[in-house]
Amino acid sequence: PKYVYRFSEGDKDQKDLLGGKGANLAEMTRLGLPVPPGFTITTDACRAYLADGEVPDELAVQVTTALREVEEELGRGLGAQQDPLLVSVRSGAKFSMPGMMETVLNIGLNDSSVEGLAAVSGDRRFAWDSYRRLIQMFGKTVLDIDGDHFSDALEAKKEARGVSLDYELGVEALTELVEEYKTIVREHAGIDFPQDPRAQLDMATEAVFRSWNTERAHIYRRREKIPHDLGTAVNVCTMVFGNMGQTSGTGVCFTRDPSTGRSGVYGDYLVNAQGEDVVAGIRNTLSLADLEHLDKASYDELRSAMRKLETHYRDLCDIEFTIERGRLWLLQTRVGKRTAAAAFRVATQLVDEKLITMDEALTRVTGDQLTQLMFPQFNGETDRDLLTRAMPASPGAAVGYVVFDNEEAVARAEAGESVILVRRETNPDDLPGMVAASGVLTARGGKTSHAAVVARGMGKTCVCGAEALEVDAEAKTLRVAGREEVLTGKDVIAIDGTTGEVFLGEVAVVDSPVMTYLRRGLEEALEAAGGVDTRELVTSVHRLMRHADKVRRLEVRANADTPDDARHAIHRGAQGVGLCRTEHMFLGERKRYVQNLILAGNQDERERALAALLPLQKGDFVQMLETMDGRPMTVRLIDPPLHEFLPDLTELSVKVALERERGTLDPAEEELLAVVRRYHEANPMLGLRGVRLLLTMPGLIELQVRAVAEAAVERLREGGSPLPEIMIPLVGSVRELQIARERAEAVLAEVSAETGYELAFPVGCMIELPRAAVSADTIAEEADFFSFGTNDLTQTTWGFSRDDVESTFFKEYLEEGVFGVSPFETVDERGVGHLVELGAQRGRSARPGLKLGVCGEHGGDPESIGFFHRVGLDYVSCSPFRVPVARLEAGRAAV
Ligand code: ADP
Ligand code: MG
Ligand code: MG
Repeated sequence: PKYVYRFSEGDKDQKDLLGGKGANLAEMTRLGLPVPPGFTITTDACRAYLADGEVPDELAVQVTTALREVEEELGRGLGAQQDPLLVSVRSGAKFSMPGMMETVLNIGLNDSSVEGLAAVSGDRRFAWDSYRRLIQMFGKTVLDIDGDHFSDALEAKKEARGVSLDYELGVEALTELVEEYKTIVREHAGIDFPQDPRAQLDMATEAVFRSWNTERAHIYRRREKIPHDLGTAVNVCTMVFGNMGQTSGTGVCFTRDPSTGRSGVYGDYLVNAQGEDVVAGIRNTLSLADLEHLDKASYDELRSAMRKLETHYRDLCDIEFTIERGRLWLLQTRVGKRTAAAAFRVATQLVDEKLITMDEALTRVTGDQLTQLMFPQFNGETDRDLLTRAMPASPGAAVGYVVFDNEEAVARAEAGESVILVRRETNPDDLPGMVAASGVLTARGGKTSHAAVVARGMGKTCVCGAEALEVDAEAKTLRVAGREEVLTGKDVIAIDGTTGEVFLGEVAVVDSPVMTYLRRGLEEALEAAGGVDTRELVTSVHRLMRHADKVRRLEVRANADTPDDARHAIHRGAQGVGLCRTEHMFLGERKRYVQNLILAGNQDERERALAALLPLQKGDFVQMLETMDGRPMTVRLIDPPLHEFLPDLTELSVKVALERERGTLDPAEEELLAVVRRYHEANPMLGLRGVRLLLTMPGLIELQVRAVAEAAVERLREGGSPLPEIMIPLVGSVRELQIARERAEAVLAEVSAETGYELAFPVGCMIELPRAAVSADTIAEEADFFSFGTNDLTQTTWGFSRDDVESTFFKEYLEEGVFGVSPFETVDERGVGHLVELGAQRGRSARPGLKLGVCGEHGGDPESIGFFHRVGLDYVSCSPFRVPVARLEAGRAAV
C-alpha cells in the first residue's frame, strides 16, 4: 500500500488517511499557499505499527523516496554538513487532539550539521540552541526520559552563568549544555543520542505512532467520543525558523474571534520564537495589529491567506504561521474550535456573507452549545471582591474551591465539591484536572494557550493570563499581587469566562441572555442585552431556532407534572406535554388516602377512599389542562410500585414491636404492618407497578380516568379545549392494555353520558419492556399511540437498575470502554435503540399512522434525538429545560 503522500498529493477530504493536519497541509499546498515542503505518513501505517509492534516493511523505501524529492526540490540534504535540511515530525489524527501528541522539531541536527546551520544562518547561538532543543525534545518524547532532567540541567546552567532567561545563554554555554544533554540521554535511555539524521526521523515517527496510546490521549478520546482505533498520521515538514532574530517570529491566528464570534481577525504573535513558545503560553504575546506595524508585507500576505482559507473552507479557520526573516510560512490550518456563542454568531454571519445556507448554518451549531449558552451567569451586583481581571478565554461562570493539581481536582470533584483548577499554565498532563474542575484559571498565556484552547473545546469556563496571580503549586497557595491574603484549598473563588474577572468568595448567578431570550422572547432579550456582542448572539440564536422549528419533523413536547413546569415548557417552545406523571398527586398529605384505599376491607371503605381522592386529582388536572389549553397532554396513569405509598417495612416493624411491648399498640397499625408485609417486594422495579397495579387494585384506573374526564368537562364548560391522552405504563401484553382500555373507555362513556360532552380521548401505552417492543404489532391493535419509555427500556433491556449502577460498577464500565457513554444518557442504538426501531416498525405495520413518541431523559439528549428522527418517531418529550435543545437538534436532524 501507499503509506506516504507528498503534501502536494493529498487534499482536505482525506482526513481518515492523512489525519486532519496532513489533509489540511495538503489542501493549503494545493491552494498555492506558502507551506514548507514535506510529506505525510498515513494512519494506515500507524494502525499497522500498533497491530504488529513494528513499522510495515514498505514504509522505509517510501519515506526515502519522498524525502529525496523534498531534498531535490530544495537542493538541501537532511542533516547535511552544509545548509542542512531539517524537518519537524508532527502527529496529526483525524480529529484534532490539542497537545495530545508530541511534535519533535529540528530533526536532522547533529554534531556536524549544527555547524552547517550556524554557517547558513550566520548565528551560532541560534544553531546550538536549536540542537539543544532537539536533544531535549527527542529525549523527552522519543526516548521517554523525564523532562525534568533536561530542564534542571538548563536551570543549573543559567544559574552557573548568572543569567535568568534562556536566551541569555551564549554559544559556549549551549555547547556545554548539549554535551550534558547527551550524557543525560546516555544515562537514562542507555543509548547515545542518534547522530544519523534518518535514524532520528524514523525513531521520531515511531514515537508519534506510540503516542496514540498514551494515557492522556485515551482520556481525551474517551471524553470526546473519538474511537480508539483510528490511529494518527505523521507529518514530516521542512523546518522554518521563527527564532532567527527580530525579523522572525511565530504566531497563531483566527479568521474571526473564536471566543465571542465577533467578525474580524484575531491572533497572537511572538517575535523571535519557535512555535511551541506561543501555544505553551510561556511568554506574553503581541497582537496581529502589532505585527502589521512590525512587518507589513508579511502581515498583508497573512491576511490574504486568511481570507482565502475562510472562503475556501466556508468557516472560521485557525492558522499557525511562522515568519522566517521576513518570509511567511503557514504551518497548519483547520476549521477552528470556538465557544458556543461564537458558533452561533459565526454561523449566521456566514449566511449573511452568502458563504453558507441556513440549513448548513444549523449543522454548524449543536444542542450542547445551546445548553452552554443557557447556563446562568454572575449577576451584576457591585460589592463583589474583585481579585484580578485577565483574559476571558472560555465563557460561563464558575464558582469553586481553589485546587492546584490534578489529583486534588479529581478527588474533590468526585466527592461532590465544585473546584477551580488554578495553574501557572496548563499542559497536556493537566487534562484530568481540567475535566474534573468547574473552571480553569491560569497565570500565564493568551487566548491561544493550551488552557484556553482545551477549555473552549470542553465548554469549560476559563480565565487565563492572570499575571497578578502567584501560584505556588508545591505549597498549594495562591497570592494576588497587591493583596495580603494567601488563598488555599479552603478558599472559594469565582471566575467569569466572559469578562475575565476573578472574584474572591461566592458570587450569585443570574439568567444568561440566551436564557432570557428563551424565556421571554427576542424583544425583551434585546432590551436587556448589555452590548452589541450580546445583541448579535441573541439574534443569531433566534434566527437559528426559528429555522430549526421550520425544518424539523419531530414535534417537541415536555415532561411536566405541575402547571409551573408546563408553563416553563410552553415558554421554551414545547408543543404539548408528552408525559404528565400522576404519582406525585398521591404523595405527601394525600398518602393516607391511598393507604385507606389499600387497606379497605370492603366495597364501602374502598368507595369512601376513592371518593376522597377524586376531587384532589381532578383539581390537579383542571389546572394542567388549563395551562396546556389547545395542546396535547399525555397523562400517564400511576406507575411506581405500590410500596412507595406505604410506610417502610423495617421502621414500621420496630414501631409496632415497641408499642406492643408498651401495650399502646393501635390495632390499625398492626393491620397496616400486615399489609406492608404482604406487599413487600425484593425487586420492586420489576414488581407490582404500572399496569399491573392498575389492573389489580380495584377502582384505581376508574378513579384516575374519571378525574381526567371530569376535569376535561370542566374545561369544556368554560370554553377551553382540553386535549388529554391517556397512557398506560409498563404494558407487556396486549391483553393488559385491552383490559385497561375497556375500563378506561367505560368511564369515559359514563362521564360523557352524565354530562352530555363527547369524550373520545386517545388511549395509548408506554413501550418500556422488551416484550412490548417485540410484540408491538399486537399491542398496536389496542393502542392509539406509543410512547417509548427509554429509561425503563434501558433498565429492562440491560437488566440493571438506574438507581444503583452509578454507585456500583458504572465508572469501571465507562473506563473499560464497555460503554462509550452511559446508556441512560445517550440511547444505546445497538440494543435499546434497536428495540425502539423494531417497536416503531411493528407498531406501524399493524396500525399505519400510529403516533409514536419518546419520553425519558433520552428525549432531550442531542445524539439520541438524531436517532429518534431517523427511526421515524413523531415526537420527543423531555424536561422543560431541554426543550430548546430538542427543538434545535430536531432541526439539525432534518437538514
Ligand atoms: P500541535 O498538534 O500540538 O499543534 P504541531 O505539529 O502543530 O503540534 O507543532 C507544534 C508547533 O511546532 C507548531 O505550533 C508549529 O509552529 C511548530 N512547528 C511544527 N513544525 C514546524 C516546522 N516545520 N517549522 C517550524 N515550526 C514548526
Ligand atoms: Mg499545531
Ligand atoms: Mg417507566
